[in-house]
Formats: sequence, structure tokens, C-alpha cells
Amino acid sequence: MTTSGGIVIVGGGLAASRTAEQLRRAEYSGPITIVSDEEHLPYDRPPLSKEVLRAETDDVLLKPAEFYEENNITLMLGSGASALDTAAQTVTLANGETVAYEELVIATGLVPKRIPSLPDLEGVRVLRTLGESIALREHAGSVKRAVIIGAGFIGCEVAASLRKLGAEVTIVEPQPAPLASVLGTQIGDLVARLHRAEGVDVRCGVGVSGVSGTGHVEKVQLSDGTELDADVVVIGIGSRPSTDWLEGSGVAVDNGVICDAAGRTSAPKVWAIGDVASWQDASGHQVRVEHWSNVAEQARVIVPALLGAEATSSAVVVPYFWSDQYDVKIQCLGEPEADDIVHIVEDDGRKFLAFYERDGVVVGVVGGGMPGKVMKTRAKIANGAPIADVLPTPS
Ligand SMILES: Cc1cc2nc3c(=O)[nH]c(=O)nc-3n(C[C@H](O)[C@H](O)[C@H](O)COP(=O)(O)OP(=O)(O)OC[C@H]3O[C@@H](n4cnc5c(N)ncnc54)[C@H](O)[C@@H]3O)c2cc1C
Repeated sequence: MTTSGGIVIVGGGLAASRTAEQLRRAEYSGPITIVSDEEHLPYDRPPLSKEVLRAETDDVLLKPAEFYEENNITLMLGSGASALDTAAQTVTLANGETVAYEELVIATGLVPKRIPSLPDLEGVRVLRTLGESIALREHAGSVKRAVIIGAGFIGCEVAASLRKLGAEVTIVEPQPAPLASVLGTQIGDLVARLHRAEGVDVRCGVGVSGVSGTGHVEKVQLSDGTELDADVVVIGIGSRPSTDWLEGSGVAVDNGVICDAAGRTSAPKVWAIGDVASWQDASGHQVRVEHWSNVAEQARVIVPALLGAEATSSAVVVPYFWSDQYDVKIQCLGEPEADDIVHIVEDDGRKFLAFYERDGVVVGVVGGGMPGKVMKTRAKIANGAPIADVLPTPS
């Protein structure tokens, strides 16, 4: 039995690191323990589909080892949590150890979805961890033809990076356009155009029905009867919250760990943050966000609440995320939905700017290669400005 006491954070990514950092900033002086199933110190994931995959860097640690030493943060790496007992206030690890907590923070992120019907062939990959990114990069050196299943953000970024490495890339997406379920088809079509301009074969409205090969993947079968050659297949069809270890604990889970607006779960002294957590928003809806900047916002709210302070603000004022594809940074502010009215106000054939309208109000902005113009809209979105306030005045 390892008796840690104090605050135990389960998970070894951005949410765990940020929570520990904010706790020390808030002058919490009790024990902090981070328990992670990964061997690495907490690292940043956005570069995994970008700079790491393109071999431009391996330097992704969120904080150097000295940070944890200097701040007296204990790291228990390489063995994940397998069970939680909220009555005894203990977490059991896969290696059999037990960790006691006074307060527990769940920060276990996501697990990539796979396609169970596909045979288990070498060369069929997912991308969530540093190890998976490095393995894909090493494989990419000998790859001629890559097929990406799913044109979400990670699928599109992997396509862009593999293309830059010289592979012939095909994206297969059952929706009518990349990112269509998030940003709608008008913006999805602009993203498809960007990839096609770079020589990617973007096939929308069609699914993958099988993969085949002798030991290693060689062919991908599509639902329209087409067969593609492939040396590597990357599945980018989304992820699910990493909550299996909470089964039987009594912590309520429904597409993520259910939390109030400050990260409290249904169990006493148990909190959740980051991609795994479904927080209540200002209108009382449960919302689970899978974007980097949300974690920092949540850490600023959860830490004072954990330390017993009154909540002063809700986590997210104007949600933000970005995605780098080739030389174009796609940025999104606000909460655009696929069925909003989309006003594309700038489009030079590669870069673009679009506002999203709902009930006459601007609810989001999406830009491709337009950082200044996207950020300028923040206040208007926060204040629920009329759409006319952001649209160009007719000449
Ligand atoms: C390839 C990739 C690219 C991305 N690019 C962008 C981007 O461009 N822009 C953007 O806004 N967002 C991006 N994101 C999303 C962003 O990285 C996440 O929102 C962020 O990493 C969430 O942090 P987290 O700590 O909640 O989860 P994670 O970073 O997933 O960390 C969870 C950690 O918990 C560990 N864990 C899981 N189960 C257990 C267990 N039972 N016991 C112990 N440890 C466990 C995991 O191994 C992992 O270390 C990207 C994500 C990926 C994967």
C-alpha cells in the first residue's frame, strides 16, 4: 500500500500537469501525486500529428523533470489506475499498488476509437500517444501510399503531415465533407479544397468496408466497391473518454465523467477535468470539450473549488481551438454548429474567414490563415452581438 494522501491526480497529460501547477500556484502545500499509465513525463499532444510526425521536434514535455522535483509533485508513472473505491478513498493501480487520497482528480483523457470489424493487420494505426506518433513517423519513411480513415481534425492533420513527408495520401470520409459534423459542409468543402490543392485524394460520402493484406495492410476496400492500395492506414474516427477504470465506483459517467460547473463529480471528494470530463455549462447542459485551451480554463476553475474557495467564474467564456494543416492555421472561436447559417466573408482560394449565425446573433468565427481577424471577433461573440455587427457593410 502506498499512502500518498493529499491530492491525487489520475492521468498524465495536460490536465494533470496544469492542475498540479495551478495547485502549487494557489499555494496548496500538501502532497500532490500524479498517477499515469504512460512512462513519459506529462507531454503536449497537439505536436504529435504535426511537428513530431514530421520529425521537426521530439521536445514535447509540458514541464521538465526539475519542475516536479522543485514543486514536490510525486510522479507515479507507468502503471494506470484500474479501480476506484470512493468509500475507502483509494485508487488501485494495475501493478497492484493502492494510493490513498484526500481529494481525487480524474484527468484520464481519451482512448482512440478503432473499427472492431477490421482485421488486426500491421500498418493499421491510431494516433494519440507520443509512442504512436514516433512509430507512425518511423513507418512513414517507407510509406508510399497512406489511407486516412476519417476527416476530423486529427485525420486532416495526419494527412497534411504525411503528404509533407512525401506519401500519396487518400482521405476517406463518410460525411459529405471534412469536419462537416463540427463546422458544416461549406467550411468542410474549403478544407477539402486545401487538401486537394496539396495533392491529397479526398473521398467524401464513402466509408471503409475492409482492409486486407498478408500480415501487413496492403489494400483498403471502400463501401462503393473501390479498392485502394495502402502501406499504412491511420484510423482517425474520434475517441471515447477513458473511464473503464471507474466501473463500479459509483462515479456517474455518461459520455465522460459527469461534473458540475466547477468539476465536482457525483462522488464526494472526486473531481474531473480535461477531455474526459463533461462539465455543466452556463445553460445547464453537460458539455465535454476535446480541445487544448479548455483544459487551462478548467484548471483555473477547479483548483480554487478544490481548495474550498467560492466559484467566481465558469470555465469557458469563448471556446477556442486551432488545427494546423500545411501552412494554414484553422482557428475557431465560439460554438459554431453544423446547421448554423455560415457567412463566408473572405476566400482567396486557400485562406478564408467565416462567421456563424444563429437567431440573428454571431455565435462563432472560423478562419483559415486569418489569425488577427479571428481573434478580433472574441468580444462580439462573448457579448452575443448581432450578426450585422461583424459582416462587411454592403458597398
Ligand atoms: C494528435 C493530437 C493532436 C491534437 N491537436 C490539437 C490542436 O491542434 N488543437 C487543440 O485545441 N487540441 C488538440 N488536441 C487535443 C488536446 O491535445 C487535448 O485536448 C488535451 O491533450 C487534453 O488533455 P487531457 O490531459 O485531458 O488528456 P490527455 O492529453 O489525453 O491525457 C490523459 C492522460 O491520462 C492517461 N491515462 C488514461 N487512462 C489512465 C488510467 N486509467 N490511469 C492513469 N493514467 C491514465 C493517458 O495515458 C494520458 O497520459 C490534439 C490531440 C491529439 C491526440
